[in-house]
Amino acid sequence: ELILAIESSCDETSVAVIENGETILSNIVASQIKSHKRFGGVVPEVASRHHVEQITICIEEALTEANVTAKDLRAVAVTYGPGLVGALLIGLSAAKAFAWANDLPLLPINHMAGHIYAARLVEPLEFPLMALLVSGGHTELVYMEKDGSFEIIGETRDDAAGEAYDKVGRVLGLSYPSGKEIDTLAHQGTDTYNFPRAMIKEDNFDFSFSGLKSAFINLTHNAEQRGEILDPNNLAASFQASVIEVLVTKTIRACKTYPVKQLIVAGGVAANRGLREQMTNAIEQEIPNVRLIVPPVRLCGDNAAMIGAAAHVELQKHHFAKMSLNADPSLAFQHN
Ligand code: ATP
Ligand code: MG
Ligand code: FE
Repeated sequence: ELILAIESSCDETSVAVIENGETILSNIVASQIKSHKRFGGVVPEVASRHHVEQITICIEEALTEANVTAKDLRAVAVTYGPGLVGALLIGLSAAKAFAWANDLPLLPINHMAGHIYAARLVEPLEFPLMALLVSGGHTELVYMEKDGSFEIIGETRDDAAGEAYDKVGRVLGLSYPSGKEIDTLAHQGTDTYNFPRAMIKEDNFDFSFSGLKSAFINLTHNAEQRGEILDPNNLAASFQASVIEVLVTKTIRACKTYPVKQLIVAGGVAANRGLREQMTNAIEQEIPNVRLIVPPVRLCGDNAAMIGAAAHVELQKHHFAKMSLNADPSLAFQHN
């Protein structure tokens, strides 16, 4: 069963053709990062305009690359939240138009469910499982008892991990988004500053990254005033060590608390080399019976393939949307 999937929640216009929720026939990703770099973040109006320019081209490319036509498709899936409302509406309108014109049902998909289901493109999921969702806007531990069921057992109380990376990157004079570059710098330095590990000992699965961000800003600001120059590699390494230690410690604890068979690490920050390495080591040492799935880097960032993977579950349940489906910028996981 082939699904055409459309993703436009932020600054990537992406269209994919996915077979049975597990095989990628095509996954076109048009990134707008260059246009947003000079503003130091995503400008919603600029994002919407890019989506309008790219969406039709991406749909055509996705079909061509997959070597299929609309007649071969079973459904059209689309991200309807969370994300930027203007950006979401472009993908949503295109999906509705395509579905209506080709007499196909519409599958409404949560962007965060998509990030988790990127793992399905790597190997079959076995439940119950735990997912650590770490992205630009979210940092959550999600317990999944079965397909399509999401229970947030812990989340950030303030900044998301990716957001902290991007803010700290700005202080280091790096361009947006700076997660990847901090990761590279961190591998050339050592943890010399010993930043706080917020909430690491607390008996819950929540996170906090704003204190770390402030500690980082204060340290660099004070050094600047004394005319001192701190080594950016060691700063990056110290920041990253704090983020990773908290993420790994709480995730391992969550996997010991819930009866999980698999752990999925997903979202843009899951591309982080240090996080991938340290999570792998911790799982091996502490809970070797839990299978770790981390999608390849190209499936960690925003893409439509992951939306197609999540959509297959909804297709089995015939969870079709009406043509009146609206974008929901703050969409949360639904209880079912
Ligand atoms: P959300 O998915 O929560 O709606 P988003 O879609 O904007 O937010 P993603 O595209 O999933 O977020 O991830 C982007 C984030 O990932 C950015 O904050 C970026 O800095 C971060 N990131 C990308 N690569 C790395 C890396 N190697 N190390 C750390 N962070 C990274
Ligand atoms: Mg993005
Ligand atoms: Fe995302």
